[in-house]
Amino acid sequence: APILTQFGQQMSHLTGVRAIMKDIIETLQSGQSAEFINLSAGNPVILPEVEQLWRDCTADLLASSDYGEVVCRYGSSRGYEPLIDAISTDFNQRYGLSLKPENILITPGSQSLYFLAANSFGGYTTEGQLKEIILPLSPDYTGYGGVSLYPEAVRAYQPTLEVDTAAHRFKYRPDFSQLTITEQTGFVLFSRPCNPTGNVLSDDEVKRIATLAANVPVFIDSAYAPPFPALNFTEMTPVLAPNVVHGISLSKAGLPGERVGIAIGDAATIRILESFQTNLCIHSSRYGQAIAAKAIASGALAEISKTAIRPHYQQKFAVIESTLDETMPDVPWYLHRAEGSIFAWLWLQDLPMDDQAFYQALKQYGVIIVPGSPFFPGLRNDWEHKHQCFRISLTDTAERIEIAIRRLANLTEEVYGQG
Ligand code: PLP
Repeated sequence: APILTQFGQQMSHLTGVRAIMKDIIETLQSGQSAEFINLSAGNPVILPEVEQLWRDCTADLLASSDYGEVVCRYGSSRGYEPLIDAISTDFNQRYGLSLKPENILITPGSQSLYFLAANSFGGYTTEGQLKEIILPLSPDYTGYGGVSLYPEAVRAYQPTLEVDTAAHRFKYRPDFSQLTITEQTGFVLFSRPCNPTGNVLSDDEVKRIATLAANVPVFIDSAYAPPFPALNFTEMTPVLAPNVVHGISLSKAGLPGERVGIAIGDAATIRILESFQTNLCIHSSRYGQAIAAKAIASGALAEISKTAIRPHYQQKFAVIESTLDETMPDVPWYLHRAEGSIFAWLWLQDLPMDDQAFYQALKQYGVIIVPGSPFFPGLRNDWEHKHQCFRISLTDTAERIEIAIRRLANLTEEVYGQG
């Protein structure tokens, strides 16, 4: 085997939840896959209306004289011009902005956007100073654990918990008494709505973070935010302050296979990311960009997000809520407030085993959920809460979700009974 460099070592490991996913795939391939209800998936449901939209946009593209220009030629590394125009027109109208093409960059999926940012603004400066990537509220997206070539650059903050004991609900808040942005900070990063918790930081909390971080970029990962895929179940508005880079993904709007990510931010920051991207991969695939341009320019994507995508997951969440309320034993269990995303986040306080052991035990009941501990990238505190949470995907059918939650309630009763 070739000798790996430091970066080769770092990047050849599966980080965070991808390691669990390997175990899940092996479990599902073990021959009894039909018996498992798999609530681990991050892959969105293929909704018929959404698939039809992408099919229609593809038919349009095939019929248009632009087809050769789109598919048979290289283009600008910033992105396909009609997509950039569609985004700036949409955002300018919708939010009263004055975005220009130089404020926008199209990347091959939004994950790659955070990689570009993590290694442009985080890591070691030419003077050898470590610039940190600050995650203001942990837990957050597990993928942030693998974005930096220098994992020691990622630093996350423990949140405060708002608990409604009687209702069995809770919510994370950023702990502003701890959160500090210093000259060691390279940039700030968080998802809103949040994968895995479904939390939506309030507009005020976001503005407060953007103000604290006045001298560094704040990347707001809006993979679930309005206007598309609009997977927010609570009112929220994108906060577009001068130091904010707004990261959009079309993956949860039905296009994960085409890898389309969009960064909106100030021209100087966008230029740095664009240059890095040109060195890395020249530009994002133009087929995906061309169909996205049509779906956004016509308004169809924003519309279908509100009328099909959001209600689909909201209904699934309601099934989890009502089944938990009905079946969970009298133990301190708490469901995170459902404010968005395609996941539910369950906290089993004082769980007599750790999250990995509970995950293994639930497999014996034919149910797979994701243990929560990989969702705390960059959090160095030894916090028992990290081993008491679970992510439950809303992508299976309502019937199967209900069966799975009943089994989870049975296991909960059993393990707390023994403990
Ligand atoms: N950010 C968050 C919060 C996500 O949940 C995901 C995917 O699940 C991504 C980023 C990456 O998405 P993509 O690279 O497909 O745009």
